[in-house]
Amino acid sequence: MNYYGNPITKLIEELSALPGIGGKSAQRLAFFIINMPKERALALSSSIKEARENVRYCSICCNLTDEDPCPICSNLKRDHKTIMVVEDPRDMAAYERTKQYHGMYHVLHGAISPMTGIGPQEIKIKELLNRLQNDDMIEEVILATNPNVEGEATAMYISRLLKPLQIKVTRIANGVPVGGDLEYVDEITLSRALEGRREM
Ligand code: ZN
Repeated sequence: MNYYGNPITKLIEELSALPGIGGKSAQRLAFFIINMPKERALALSSSIKEARENVRYCSICCNLTDEDPCPICSNLKRDHKTIMVVEDPRDMAAYERTKQYHGMYHVLHGAISPMTGIGPQEIKIKELLNRLQNDDMIEEVILATNPNVEGEATAMYISRLLKPLQIKVTRIANGVPVGGDLEYVDEITLSRALEGRREM
């Protein structure tokens, strides 16, 4: 039923399509936005537009970026011989917050999950392989996928794939709680997981 007029109904529909936002929350957010000062509401809308139009994948590490290569890949002070493979840009951000890691990253944008039909082709594994084949500077690949079934399967798959390349492949230690999500693990635990990594 269209109780509020088309523009508000449309806004509620768009908001309720977001993850974790049910119908009631969408209504609450829509009315909050309508009652915001006009400049703030327009600033919100233009930041969505700008993010969507200007953010893309880094052509080297597949991280989200508005400049290509991204600031990490183009930073010559970082260690370009080590690549840490993570599932998500938020995992990369979690490792950056530890300030203990100064190498490169590769963002997979997911993990292999036969249960939900996500195979190796659906995530950025091919890009990682291409990168390693074209860059003989790389000495170590650290697999920092999440310590759950999907993350372990993904780490195992990648380590087998990289065997012929004769690059050292390591896996972060189990300092990270099993079944955990890297994004929420505290910085000290993450640093320990990184220090305690072992060769696969
Ligand atoms: Zn990059």
